[in-house]
Parts: sequence; C-alpha cells; structure tokens
Amino acid sequence: MDRSVTIAGMGYVGLTMAACLAERGVKTVGIDVDRNRLALLSKGETTIYEPHLKDMIRKNLVSGNLSFIEDYKVLQESNVTFITVGTPSKTDDSIDLEQVRIASESIGKELKTKRDYHLVVVRSTVVPGTSENMIKELISQNSGKTCSKDFGLCMNPEFLREGSAVQDMMKPDRIIMGESDKKAGSMLEEFYNKIYSTHMPKVFRTSLETAEMIKYVNNAFLATKISFINSIAHLCERTPRTDINIVAEGLGLDPRISPSFLRAGLGWGGSCFPKDLRSFLTFAQSQNIELPVISAAMKVNDIQPILAVEKAKEFLNDLKEKCIAILGLAFKPNTDDVREAVSLKIINKLLDEGAYVRAYDPAAIENSKKMFGDQVFFAKSAQECIKGSDCCIIVTEWDEFKTLHPDDFRKNMRRPFVIDGRRIYEPKEFSDNMEYYGIGIGKD
Ligand code: NAD
Repeated sequence: MDRSVTIAGMGYVGLTMAACLAERGVKTVGIDVDRNRLALLSKGETTIYEPHLKDMIRKNLVSGNLSFIEDYKVLQESNVTFITVGTPSKTDDSIDLEQVRIASESIGKELKTKRDYHLVVVRSTVVPGTSENMIKELISQNSGKTCSKDFGLCMNPEFLREGSAVQDMMKPDRIIMGESDKKAGSMLEEFYNKIYSTHMPKVFRTSLETAEMIKYVNNAFLATKISFINSIAHLCERTPRTDINIVAEGLGLDPRISPSFLRAGLGWGGSCFPKDLRSFLTFAQSQNIELPVISAAMKVNDIQPILAVEKAKEFLNDLKEKCIAILGLAFKPNTDDVREAVSLKIINKLLDEGAYVRAYDPAAIENSKKMFGDQVFFAKSAQECIKGSDCCIIVTEWDEFKTLHPDDFRKNMRRPFVIDGRRIYEPKEFSDNMEYYGIGIGKD
C-alpha cells in the first residue's frame, strides 16, 4: 500500500495498532485531539506503559513510517482510516459515543473534498447499530458522499489484551469483520492479508451489527466465566479439602469448557469489561431484553474485591489505624492502566474503614497518584510497601510479587498476614510459615 493509513485515536488500541502497522512497513499517521499526547508521542515518549511499544514507536518515528498529527486533513493522503477513539460509559451506564461522533464528523468533512474511494474501519467497541445508524450517517451527511459507492464501512472489533497488546496485535487469533458491502470487506481483508501474510488468521465476515454484537458477547462471556469461578471459590472455602484452583484445572480439562478465564481472584476491572458490560446491559434493556446471567456476573464482581477487606477486618478485628499494604494497582499485570481497577475499590473501602494504606505497583503508581494523592503512601518497592504493615493484599499478579518468600513478609511486616487475592503463592509454604488466606481454599 503506497498511501498512508490513518488511525483516529491514539489510546491503548490506536497507538498499538499504529506502531504495529508501521513496524510491518505501512506508512501510518496517528491522529488525536489531545495535543499534549501528540507532542509526547512525536518525541518518542509513550503516554501508556505497554511492553515493547516505546521501542517500536521510536524506531518507526526515525524510519519515517510513523507520525502523529492533530489535523484530519491527512486523510487526503490515505485510503483507509481506522477509528479507535474511546467509548466510555455515561453516568446512566449507557455508552458514551461522543468521541465516535466527533471523529465520524471529522472524517466526513475531509471526505467531502476527496475524490478517491475511502475505507473507514471502526475498531472502537460500539453497541449494535452504531456503525450503520450513526457512523455511516454522520460520514454521509458531512461528506455528501454515498456509502458503498464513494466510501466503504467496516466494523472490525479489537480483541487485544493490555499487557500483551503488541503481541496480540501482531498475531491476532481471528479477524471479525462486519462490512457495509462486499467491496469494503474485501478491501480490508486484502489489507490484512498483506500485513499478516503467512500468519493471516481466520477471517470471519459478517454484517456490521453482528460484528458489534460479537465484541460485546465475547467480553460478557469472559467476564461471566470469571464471576462463575469466583462464586464457586466461596463454596470451596466452606468445603474441606477442596481448592478452587484444582477444581478449575479439572473443569478446564473438558474441551467444551477450556481452562482460560477460570482463575479465581478478586474479580475483574479495567478499561473494557466493566464499561462494556454496563453498556451492553443498557443496550439490551433498550430492546426490552433482560440479560440475567450478565447482571449476575456483574453482581458477583461488585462484591468480590470487598471480600479481601472483610478478610483483613476479620483477622485484625478493626481496620482503624491499621496499616495495610497493597501489592498491585494496575487492573492487570504489565500495564499502567488503573481504569476501574479492583485496587481502587479495595483502597477506597480501606480508607473508609480508617486504615492507613501503603501501595506499590511496578508501572501504575503515577496513574494511581492522580486518584488518591497523599491519602495513600506510594512505596518504591514491594519490600518497602510491606514494611511495618499489619496485612498485605496481593491485588495484581505481577511476576515481581511472585518472587517474594514467606521470610520477606515475616521480616518486614509488623503482623505477617498475606491475603493472596490472585493465588500467586504456594498455599502450604505460606500457611506453614505465617498467616495466609488464599481465595477458594477449603480448610482441612
Ligand atoms: P483510550 O481512552 O485509551 O484512547 C482514546 C483516544 O482517542 C485518546 O487518546 C483520545 O484523546 C482520542 N480521541 C478522542 N476523541 C478523538 C477524536 N475526535 N479524534 C481523534 N482522537 C480522539 O481508549 P482505548 O483503551 O484505546 O480504547 C479505544 C476503543 O477500543 C474503545 O472503544 C475500547 O472499548 C476498545 N477496546 C479497548 C481495548 C483495551 O484493552 N484498551 C481492547 C479492545 C477494544
């Protein structure tokens, strides 16, 4: 492809996509409305932490394959534009499509003066009907052009996982592609064929609405799987000689189930599951459909993080003026993203109970400081974090925390008590040496 590809929205998804396309030799221009972000990116500084991303950005800024700009005029030099802007939820839980609306209008205005056919690909997660009824309409109205003739529209949901975003983008396990018409879908499929060549994954072509639906159902199913195993973990704790990890392992041996997303813990958070499930439920309600399984998954998840605080309270009687160490702030390892992270719920509850909170995370301290300021003491290492504490809660399963031994906790803590919210430690090794609570372990 000689002309450049444009990507609107340089967040986790758009930036990763831009860096990966540039790495594969595609001239890629990232558009964003945030000037500070653009200034940093143009200097090779990343606005997010994601393994390998910074190196790829720097390399491709130098090679000239990657650049960043605010102005949508750059669309004139391109024949494909991907939309990767954010789709947060509103206070009433429905999807907030404002960023998508503005991006679609900006694309439409540029297409007005463009003579060649242009392909617009929606990668943001949007509720079914958005591409057809809103994005297509806004582009048509603002450009005066006709979809399927002057421009094509695809809805190509992104499934990357933060923490392994580059790897996921470089080697996706499938490409789901909703299309306004065959020409649009075939152009996108050909584009990906060139990018992935011999590693081209399975392509599944559908209507725009089906692609939108698949993305939500995918997230809802994975979140439900986690909530399911978390509720069974409670039962295991009341059932002698059971351990949820072993139960999940046996369950995962059934090929109809698969072992993925069956790890019991303090629940799910992050930038996608919570807001996507809320938007999906609201969308379903607007169609007069209840989705009780998804509502139940959310209910289980609401209480799951608080379980750790209750355990700490049970052990220490009262949390007032007790010092609690939090290991892990990011919503998952290998990211600095704290959006709707479980750590936020736990820390807020601990502060409400009058506890002192010390916290450490290898990447997410800066983002957490924006939320808690000096209400929380942010340590420079895991060892410093647990020093003098009465209880330590493992909130995120960073590899760094897995290397801690019972001795580290015994030497540093005032009262060595570990709540292993992610089951990263060997239960016997820890419970033989100190007070230890691991989720889903039935007492003998
Ligand atoms: P984000 O909030 O990190 O980034 C959005 C970016 O879009 C920001 O940089 C913002 O400044 C920019 N933006 C806003 N309005 C714009 C406009 N009119 N033109 C150009 N840029 C604009 O979002 P994200 O986490 O990258 O997610 C993007 C979309 O992808 C969402 O719909 C999300 O649900 C979906 N998604 C996210 C992930 C993930 O792991 N983060 C995974 C799969 C899908």
